[in-house]
Amino acid sequence: MKRRPLIAGNWKMHKTVAETLAYIEAFKPLVAGVEDRDIMLAPPFTALDAAQRALEGSPVALGAQNCHWEEEGAFTGEISARMLSDIGVSYVIIGHSERRHLFRETDEMIRKKIAAVLRHDLIPILCIGETLEEREAGKTLSVLERQLKEGLKDFSARDLKNLVVAYEPVWAIGTGKTATPEQAEEAHAFCRRILAEMFGADFAETVRILYGGSVKPENIVGLMARPDIDGALVGGASLKPDVFARIVCFGRMK
Ligand code: PEP
Repeated sequence: MKRRPLIAGNWKMHKTVAETLAYIEAFKPLVAGVEDRDIMLAPPFTALDAAQRALEGSPVALGAQNCHWEEEGAFTGEISARMLSDIGVSYVIIGHSERRHLFRETDEMIRKKIAAVLRHDLIPILCIGETLEEREAGKTLSVLERQLKEGLKDFSARDLKNLVVAYEPVWAIGTGKTATPEQAEEAHAFCRRILAEMFGADFAETVRILYGGSVKPENIVGLMARPDIDGALVGGASLKPDVFARIVCFGRMK
């Protein structure tokens, strides 16, 4: 089955409002007319509203990098899925490895966040991936299985109809070390088998599984050639509009 590619940029804690607007002004013409794939940018919370206005009418969707699972309340410093929906966000990145490791997010917290995202008809991008230590100990597949099963166990295929999964080996994030297309494909095909086991083969065939970890213009084509790699979640290389546009436009005649 042909799944529509999704190329998503995660800016992490980078860019002010002015920097966001300058980026979008430069980026929009570079991706104008790109209709055969989805494009998403996830600026920091403070720039989401300005980004939403600047992206209006363009093919670029807006994403958030995180959310809280409650609708509102005494959770100082947190942002709810309801608030994100209110300002025109479409995607929410959930369980990024920096959230899991630096902020101690558990599979249970991630599951509750996915539930909140779904309540507001937003699209969750569930991030999973093994550390170097886990890979070297031969635990890669069991880690991926646990993260998928624990993160998604309360839901039905119907609930998750727009789910996106991002396989991001922790040792490849921001390190310049990319998983080889073979390593990534092995993990992606395995994740699809687990999703088929959990929700049925038809469902698994529709889920987009992105690869993340030092994606660049130089390696995107090799990754996207693999049958189970449906797009990319890009950190560092999404910070410059021309570089990110080259990733987004992979395989197109210029
Ligand atoms: C990420 O933050 O999801 C990521 C993959 O980062 P980078 O592309 O910088 O490795």
